Amino acid sequence: MKAAVSDSSTPPSDWHHLDPDTVCSLLDSAPLGLSQKEAAQRLQRFGPNTLPATSRRPAWRRLLAQFQNSIIYLMLAAALVTAFLQHWIDTGVILAVLVVNAIVGFLQEGRAEQALHALRDMLAPHAQVLRAGSILTVPAADLVPGDIVLLEAGDRVPADMRLLQARHLLIDESILTGESLASEKNTAAAPLDCLPGDRTCMAHSGSLVLAGQARGMVTATGQATEIGRINSLLASVDMLQTPLLRQVNRFSQRFTGLVLGGGLVLMLFAVFVREYAWSDALLAVVSLAASIVPEGLPAVMTITLAIGVRRMATRNAIVRNLPAVEILGATSIICSDKTGTLTCNEMTVRRLQMCDRLYHVEGSGYAPTGQLREDCCGQPGTAMAHTSEASGGWPAGMRHLLHAATLCNTARLRCRQGEWQVEGDPMEGALLAASLKAGIDPDTLRNAWPEQDQIPFNPEKRIMASLHIMRPDLAPHWHLPDGQRFVYVKGAPEQLLQCCVQQMAHDGTLAPLDTDAWLAAITAAADQGERVLGFAVRAANPAKDHFTSEHPGDTLTFLGLASLIDPPRPEAIRAIAECTTAGIRVKMITGDHALTAAAIARQLGLGAQPTVLTGADLDGIADAELPARAMATTVFARTSPEHKLRIVRALQSQGAVVAMTGDGVNDAPALKQADVGVAMGNKGTEAAKEASRIVLADDNFASIAAAVHEGRTVYDNIRKVIAWTLPTNGGEVLFLILALLLGYTLPMTPAQILWINLATTATLGLVLAFEPSAPDVMRRPPRPANAPLLSRPLIWRIILVSVFFLMGGLAMTAYADHHGYTTEHWRTLVVNVIVGMEIAYLFSVRGLHQPHLDWRQLLGTRATLAALLAITLLQAAFTYLPWMNTAFQTVPLSLADWFAIMMVALVLFLILEAEKKIASRFAS
Ligand code: ATP
Repeated sequence: MKAAVSDSSTPPSDWHHLDPDTVCSLLDSAPLGLSQKEAAQRLQRFGPNTLPATSRRPAWRRLLAQFQNSIIYLMLAAALVTAFLQHWIDTGVILAVLVVNAIVGFLQEGRAEQALHALRDMLAPHAQVLRAGSILTVPAADLVPGDIVLLEAGDRVPADMRLLQARHLLIDESILTGESLASEKNTAAAPLDCLPGDRTCMAHSGSLVLAGQARGMVTATGQATEIGRINSLLASVDMLQTPLLRQVNRFSQRFTGLVLGGGLVLMLFAVFVREYAWSDALLAVVSLAASIVPEGLPAVMTITLAIGVRRMATRNAIVRNLPAVEILGATSIICSDKTGTLTCNEMTVRRLQMCDRLYHVEGSGYAPTGQLREDCCGQPGTAMAHTSEASGGWPAGMRHLLHAATLCNTARLRCRQGEWQVEGDPMEGALLAASLKAGIDPDTLRNAWPEQDQIPFNPEKRIMASLHIMRPDLAPHWHLPDGQRFVYVKGAPEQLLQCCVQQMAHDGTLAPLDTDAWLAAITAAADQGERVLGFAVRAANPAKDHFTSEHPGDTLTFLGLASLIDPPRPEAIRAIAECTTAGIRVKMITGDHALTAAAIARQLGLGAQPTVLTGADLDGIADAELPARAMATTVFARTSPEHKLRIVRALQSQGAVVAMTGDGVNDAPALKQADVGVAMGNKGTEAAKEASRIVLADDNFASIAAAVHEGRTVYDNIRKVIAWTLPTNGGEVLFLILALLLGYTLPMTPAQILWINLATTATLGLVLAFEPSAPDVMRRPPRPANAPLLSRPLIWRIILVSVFFLMGGLAMTAYADHHGYTTEHWRTLVVNVIVGMEIAYLFSVRGLHQPHLDWRQLLGTRATLAALLAITLLQAAFTYLPWMNTAFQTVPLSLADWFAIMMVALVLFLILEAEKKIASRFAS
C-alpha cells in the first residue's frame, strides 16, 4: 500500500473510518508535523505528489489533423486531376507541398502547445504545510503522506487528507463526484462502507475549498489519491484555437467554395469560348485553386500567437488560454484591485490612536527598528519607554489595543539574512512590526494567549476575530485584574463601530462610544491615503471555548485605530499614464475606504477628483441605471466580490472590453465574466487562477499594461501577415484569370504557384510573426471589439497590391516578349518577379502603421535578414539547380534578367510608400 507508512494493513480507502489519532500514528506523524528530513526521505520513497502529465494529443493525431481541412481536400483533388492528366511532376510537387505544409504546421503547433505547457508548469500550485512546528509554503508536488496541510477558502486540495480540524469547511468535490452541491466537512469519522462523496472527514485531492479553514493529514499523494485512481485529469489542455484563427479558417473555407464555383465557370468559359482543350482548362483551374489558397496562413498565425505568449511570459503575464492574447489587444477598460496591484503592498503602521492618546510609530518596512512616540501638538514627542514584560508594561487600554493587533493576526515576521520579511498578509505583518516596536514579542504573546478559535477575515464583512484564553500556568505572573479570556476583533472601522457599545481609554477606563469623533478621525486619515483599521475587545464567555456564530457579537468595546501607509507602485503610475495615452480607462475596485481609495487614485494619476461609488451606493443603483454610472466612475470602494460581477456586466453592456483583476475565491464569477480575467500569481487563490485567462507572476498592474502592449503587437503582426500574404494570392489569381480570359498560355504552372506560396510564407511570412512592437502601439485607441479582421483600408490595400503584382507580371511578360524568350524562361521570370515583389512588399508591410519610411524599417531585424538570405538561396536553387529545373520546368536567368526583376520590385516599393504617405495625409 502506497500511503500507509507503518506496517499497518489499513487500505487507503479506510482513512475516513479512523479517528485522527489513529491516522496520525499509522502515518507515523506528529501534531507538529513531520521534520524536514523525514519529509525529504518520504518524498524519495513515495515520489512527487503529481499526476502523470495531462495526456496531450498524440503526435500522429496532430499530424493527421493537419490534413483535415477543406483547403487540403481541394489540393488533393488538384493532385488527382494532374495525375489523371499525367502531369506527374505537378502531381508530385502538389503532394510534396501538402506534406511539407503539414509538417510545418505540425511542428509549429507542437511548439505552441509546448510553450503553453511550459507556462502551466510556472503556475504549479503551492501548499501551506506544518513541518516541525513551522508553517511553510512548499510546492504541492513535495507533499508526502503524514504531512499536515492547512487549507483555506480558494485552495485546491493538494492531496487526499484526513481532516484533523475543520471550521465551517465547505468543499466543492464535483471534479470527483460530479455532485455540484458543495459538501460540508467535519472531523467525525465516517462509516466504513460509504462512498468517497460521503466521507465528510476527508478532503480529496483536486477538490476546491469554497469556505472555511481546516488542517488535514495527508493520507495519499499523486496517483494513490482518489483522483489519481479514477484517472481523471485536473487541467484540461487548451486547444490551439482562438476566435481569430477560427475567423481565418472560416474565411479560407468560404474562399475554397468560391474557388470551386468560379473555377467551374472559368473552365466552361475556357473550353467553350476560348476553345482550350479540356485537359488544359482543367489544369488552369487547378492552378487557380493553388494560387488562391493561402496554405501557410494558419500556421504563421499560430506561431505569431505563440510568440506573443512567450513575450508576455517574460513580462510576468502568464497566459492560461490562448484567445486572451488577441482579446488583450482590444481591451478598453482595466478594472484593477488596489492593494498590492496598484500599491506596493509594503505596509507600515504610522499611528496608533486611542480616544485619549495618539502615538506616532517610527520606522518603515517590517524591521522592528523605531519606537512609539506620543503625539505632541501633531508631532512625535518623547519615545515611550517599555519594560521587558511580555506586554511591554502598557496600561490596560493600550495593552488591549496591542494584544488585538498581535493576537488577532495570522501573519509571521521572519528575519532572514538581516532582512525582515512577512509571511502572510502584509497588513498584519505591519501590525506585528508595530507591536515589536512597542516592546511586545508576538511569539511570546501568542504562546501566553493561545488562540482557541477564529473567525477568519471575510471581504464581505471586513472583520476578523479570535478567541484567546491565557495559559493557566502563566496567569499568576501577569497580574491581570480584568480577566484571562478575551475576544479580539479587528477590521474596517466603520463596520466595527456598529458592533461596539462603549470605548476604552488608554488606562483601561470605559466611556460611552463617541462614534462621531471616531468617524472624523477615520476621515482625516483616509483623506491622506492611509488605510485605517479598527480594534475592539470583549470578555469571552467563560462557558465556551469557541465561537458559536460567524460574528463576534455586537457588545464590543472599541479600542482605537491604526493608520497604515501603502505607497502606490511607481511602475503602476507609469503604466496608468501609458494606458491613458492608449485610450484604455483604468478603474480601481477595492475593499478599502472610499477616501483612502480616492487619495491613492489621485496619487496614481487617475484624475484630480476621481469619481467614487461605494458598495452601498452600488446597492442603491438600479440595473438599468448602472451601465452609465459605472462608465463614469473611476473608483469603486468598500465593494464586495459580488459587486465586481455587476460592474463587469454593466461595463460590458456599454460595449467595453474589460480586463478585471481578482484574487479571492469569490472573485471567480467576475473573473470568468470579464473578457480577460487576470488573477494574482502570488496572493491569488487557486480558484481565482483557474477562473482567469491570465495570471500575473508579480501581482503588478504594470504587467497588465505590458500584456496589453504585447496583445496589440500580436494583433498588428497577424494583420501584417494577412496583409502581406493575400495580395500574393490575389496577384497570381488576377494574372491567371487574365490569361484565361484572353486565351493565353498560363504564366505559371500549378507547381510553380505552390512553390511561390510555400517558399515565401515559410521565410518572409514568418518574419512578420517576430516583428517588434510599432513605436505607436500604445498611442492609438483600442481596436473596437467587433472590428473585422479585414478592415476597409486593408481590403483596399490587398486589392491595390494585387493589381500591382499583376502589373509587375505583365511588365515581365513584355520584357520576355521583347527578348523572344521561351515559355519556360518567361515563367521563370514571372515566378522570380513575384518573389521579388513580395520582398519589396514585406518591407512596406513592416511599417504598416507608420506613414514615414525610416531606417529601422529598411534595415530590418535579424529575422528579416535571415529570411532574405533563405529566400535568395531558395530562388537561386529554383533557377539554377538542374534537378529543380526539371521538376519545376525552369531555366537559368541572366544578369540582365535579374536587373529587370529588381527594377520592378524597387518601383513597387516606391509606389507603395508614396501611396502610404498620400493616404495618411488624407486620413489626418
Ligand atoms: P483590494 O484593493 O485588493 O480589494 P483591500 O485590502 O483594500 O484590497 P480587502 O482585502 O477586501 O480590500 O479589505 C477591505 C477592508 O477590510 C480593509 O480596508 C480593512 O479595513 C479590512 N481588512 C483587510 N484585511 C483585514 C484583515 N486581515 N483583518 C481585518 N480586517 C481586514
